[in-house]
Amino acid sequence: MQTTVTKFGGTSLASAQQFKKVAEIIRSDNSRRFVVASAPGKRTSDDIKVTDMLISCSKVAAEGKDFTKELAMIRDRFVSIADELGISFDIDPELESIAAQLSAGASEDYVKSRGEYLNSKLLAEYLGFPFIDAADVIIFNENGTLNNEETYKKLPAVLKTCKNAVIPGFYGSKMDGSICTFSRGGSDVTGAIVAHAADAEIYENWTDVSGMLMADPRIVKDPAPIEFISYAELRELSYMGASVLHEEAVFPARTIGIPINIRNTNRPDDSGTMITKAVPPAAKKNPITGIAGSKGFCSVLIEQEMMNTEIGYAAHVLKIFADLGLSIEHMPSGIDTMSVVLKESDVLPVRDELLSRLEEELHPNTLTIESGISLIAVVGHGMSYKPGVAAKVFSSIANAGVNIRMLDQGSSELDIIIGVNDEDYEKAICAIYEEFRA
Ligand code: ASP
Repeated sequence: MQTTVTKFGGTSLASAQQFKKVAEIIRSDNSRRFVVASAPGKRTSDDIKVTDMLISCSKVAAEGKDFTKELAMIRDRFVSIADELGISFDIDPELESIAAQLSAGASEDYVKSRGEYLNSKLLAEYLGFPFIDAADVIIFNENGTLNNEETYKKLPAVLKTCKNAVIPGFYGSKMDGSICTFSRGGSDVTGAIVAHAADAEIYENWTDVSGMLMADPRIVKDPAPIEFISYAELRELSYMGASVLHEEAVFPARTIGIPINIRNTNRPDDSGTMITKAVPPAAKKNPITGIAGSKGFCSVLIEQEMMNTEIGYAAHVLKIFADLGLSIEHMPSGIDTMSVVLKESDVLPVRDELLSRLEEELHPNTLTIESGISLIAVVGHGMSYKPGVAAKVFSSIANAGVNIRMLDQGSSELDIIIGVNDEDYEKAICAIYEEFRA
């Protein structure tokens, strides 16, 4: 039997009306056996996600204050869904147990995981599927990373015993039984892990958009949809801010080549974006798959005559950054220059120490920090077999009157990274998009 793992995000499960759409999607294809659910998300743009309500509730409890009001608001969200769906799910014993844990000083991870836990119980009852508690099958290491060995031992063994099931996203437990969560949006990661463990043919990630777009619609008007994208391209785009899927969700699917299909719960007939190892040749019409970026970077520029002959110079520079816990984004370098690009917010707390260590230990001719840099990634496998793509990118930016402050192209030719001033960011993205729009 074919196995499809589906994951439904918070907006797809925010109300009874959305639950009905989800049930229709699942019932329309019996390969959709395993369902991973998020907590109820926003019903309207000014609504509050249940996960955020739980975090507030946990904070109030941690301050030793009365959290009855916060918990009552959370109860209302679930009760309104259950009542409208006409299911008998009794939330009160669950809430009593959460309240007891809150009073006993429960961890924030435990409290914020309860949105997924309760919503999945509701969905399981509505669908008539068994409920599998993620705490029993998704196992974390002490340091909060996934314990692959234990998870891929426990989870497949349980899935094998079920024809179908609902599994909460976002959380699991450590070996001592304490609840641990992924970072925000982590139900996507759970979905990918379940797809891997079930050896699924496909992982469908259902959300409120019909897949990925070539550029951020807040910057570019009506950007074209991306029908196909490779795991590697997606990784580059999501790292640079395109946020359709959690950054870590690609890996579990990618290791065994499970395609990920981003779909829209509100427009189930749209085919969405298909993420695979290799994009089908017929789909490679445009050399650029997508453009993404973010603001707020800085560049530490080190100039030193004869740097190229000094063995270990770069290693020494990098060691200083590593000692200060700084993660480096890019490192374009020349013969006598090296620039290290990193997030400005990371540098600020250690800026003085960084500069004094570089100065004292390396005595460079000049040492400067340039701030206000935005990075733009122009991503596409198509760039590697088509000459002139880089030239088109640069001329589009130049024609828009934007100065390029930094350039970096990886040897895989999967992307070109361009640094521009923060105030030119939107203009540069629009110019590149216009140049390559289909
Ligand atoms: N509910 C969690 C969040 O809001 C996890 C998720 O939805 O994926 O981040």
